[in-house]
Amino acid sequence: MNTAAEKVKLSLKKWLKDTSHILFPAQCLICEDELPSNNLICSFCEPELLYTHFEKYNEPTSLDQLFWGREQVSTTYALLFYKEGSSTQQVLHQLKYNNKPETGSLFGEKIAEKWGKNLITENVDLLLPVPIHAKKKFLRGYNQSTMIAEGINKLTGIPIAKNLSGKLQHTGSQTKRGRFSRWDNVSGNFTISNKIKQYKHIALVDDVITTGSTLEAFIQAIRKVHPTVQISIVSLAVTK
Ligand SMILES: [Zn+2]
Repeated sequence: MNTAAEKVKLSLKKWLKDTSHILFPAQCLICEDELPSNNLICSFCEPELLYTHFEKYNEPTSLDQLFWGREQVSTTYALLFYKEGSSTQQVLHQLKYNNKPETGSLFGEKIAEKWGKNLITENVDLLLPVPIHAKKKFLRGYNQSTMIAEGINKLTGIPIAKNLSGKLQHTGSQTKRGRFSRWDNVSGNFTISNKIKQYKHIALVDDVITTGSTLEAFIQAIRKVHPTVQISIVSLAVTK
């Protein structure tokens, strides 16, 4: 049906789309200068990004080494190095505290461009964003790691886990769980659904890795439910 009212609605939508950059000019995520196009980072700031170039390494990277003697991981990847005061810090700030979820998907796509084919040849069958507390997610409106996973999914087609894991505010809340809790397993602060058992190789998606202890606890929680699962790690950034 193509009524006159719908036509008006459609052209209004098109007008809004065409003029949205005038109403809400795009700003560079790093220097916050106005951008001519729908890019998120200007051509001056783009070369400032501290790429790890891990995809070019033949030897183990610093991220691989971070998990040595801790949890067995198949492959690891981080796109950017994180340093205090660096452009990476600004990118993460925009993603986490400035209501810019699209930053996550943009960088997720960049990750997939450099590492996506490894995820596919390694038969990764699930992207599992590291969960955040429900309260944090409510306040932020999204889980930043899920946004990164969405960018990876867009280019690789690997599905993103929905409701397979969660994070509790305190370990104590475990005792308050009702009899009909949807969570089958609680380990540390993480809750893991039994449905995770149907996957063979899971890539955990994170925003920034510093000591690796959150990921380590998350992996332990997953392996309590699914001991034979293969696990890889993909992150937007890692501390240099
Ligand atoms: Zn800029």
